[in-house]
Amino acid sequence: MLTSKEIRSLFLQFFESKGHKIVPSAPLVIKNDPTLMFTNAGMNQFKDLFLGNAPVKYPRIANSQKCLRVSGKHNDLEEVGIDTYHHTMFEMLGNWSFGDYFKKEAIEWAWELLTEVYKLPKDRLYVTVFGGDEAEGLAFDREAAEYWSAHIAKDRILSGSKKDNFWEMGDTGPCGPCSEIHIDLRPDEARKALDGKELVNTGHPQVIEIWNLVFMEFNRKANGSLEKLPAQHVDTGMGFERLTMALQGKTSNYDTDIFQPLIKKIEQHTGIAYKSNEKTDIAMRVIADHVRAVAFAIADGQLPSNTGAGYVIRRILRRAIRYAYSSLNIQSPFIYTLVDVLAAEMGDFFPEIRESAQFVARVIREEEQTFIKTIDSGLNRLEEVIRNTQGKVVDGEKLFELYDTYGFPLDLTTLILRERGYSADQEGFNREMQRQKERSRAAAELLAGDWVEIRNGGDRFVGYDTTELETEVARFRKVE
Ligand code: ATP
Ligand code: MG
Ligand code: MG
Ligand code: MG
Repeated sequence: MLTSKEIRSLFLQFFESKGHKIVPSAPLVIKNDPTLMFTNAGMNQFKDLFLGNAPVKYPRIANSQKCLRVSGKHNDLEEVGIDTYHHTMFEMLGNWSFGDYFKKEAIEWAWELLTEVYKLPKDRLYVTVFGGDEAEGLAFDREAAEYWSAHIAKDRILSGSKKDNFWEMGDTGPCGPCSEIHIDLRPDEARKALDGKELVNTGHPQVIEIWNLVFMEFNRKANGSLEKLPAQHVDTGMGFERLTMALQGKTSNYDTDIFQPLIKKIEQHTGIAYKSNEKTDIAMRVIADHVRAVAFAIADGQLPSNTGAGYVIRRILRRAIRYAYSSLNIQSPFIYTLVDVLAAEMGDFFPEIRESAQFVARVIREEEQTFIKTIDSGLNRLEEVIRNTQGKVVDGEKLFELYDTYGFPLDLTTLILRERGYSADQEGFNREMQRQKERSRAAAELLAGDWVEIRNGGDRFVGYDTTELETEVARFRKVE
């Protein structure tokens, strides 16, 4: 059986042999792009090449890119841990052509790699091609269908809608029709009972998409219209964890050697066996998944905080802490100890996680300590709120109190409410948040005079924790 490390290397070697330059993953956190907070696909770092705004040095590139899908157009957070194949952070194996080869080579090489190098059984594979879209004035992708038909029976080439077969990075940016490869991992009897094609893209956990080949031809402008790019490009992305699941003969990404060391450590710590109960299984998957996202984000320089990208990271971590607390009875910091496992398992390919492991663990431990202090009283308060709620919607003021006083991010409160059959008044929450911003702005204006005097008197005091952490961050950055 191939290890995940071998699977990754084989991908890179294959495309190197086809003339691709292998480049490192870009950081998970994107600075200086108002349209994107985190890297959500391998192509992000090449945006300017597609748009024709930067010169092409290597017309063929391949890599494994760390991606995070927790905000914006691609947000999988709610699925993570509940299903077994969507992650917050995952690796996307990709190959690109910048104005060089196009559909024919992209399709042929994808097929060659999957069936000849990885030796996936051909009769378990399906492909989809873009079926066209009238509103956008786009035609069925006849060309892609033709190239596929050299390799795979016609009834395994399915035509898909704009939703599945027209790939877009975000609301604006490079985009184009795509052709996806799906694999049916169900046992033979099940496959015979119902021909797999009805299941493609329907959320069946054993019939999943593994690779997307995008034919970049357009740029989506801010007004929603499409403009032709100056040249045609190929942009592909294959889910590394899903591919590993297929190649290691598993039915869940969490059963592969990518996640097992993390799951094992959680089992050891809790004394609970994975796969003994759906509730504890979900919690274990959430923790194993979320610690990767949070650790890599911190290693890439994004600390948890109360605003912007930092708050997204804090929310992910608090979601994991709450699952640990409620479902696994973990009531003192533990998640941070998983960083060592990550560093050992992934540090060869992503040295940043090994180099910063101690720092990352320390930040996570502090976050755990802080949140665990209030989680108990917050959960009690939430129970009380639920008891006193008439109807099924919890109002914004209560949601805001949970956020402000107990540190419960809105999505966490919403998740808990959903588990209990309630929903959250999001708009009401936003209104309260706005009100608080106005209050603190007014307060800041009032205090402005005093502030200057304090600053003249000596160092600015920002609170013990913050100062300490800032010093640490400064030290860490210098080491880099
Ligand atoms: P899905 O339909 O399963 O949500 P997608 O169509 O959103 O996937 P793409 O944007 O086409 O995914 O990304 C390319 C590949 O990355 C997918 O074929 C899949 O293998 C993988 N992938 C996408 N999202 C995730 C995720 N959240 N976790 C793990 N792998 C993912
Ligand atoms: Mg998706
Ligand atoms: Mg899809
Ligand atoms: Mg896709």
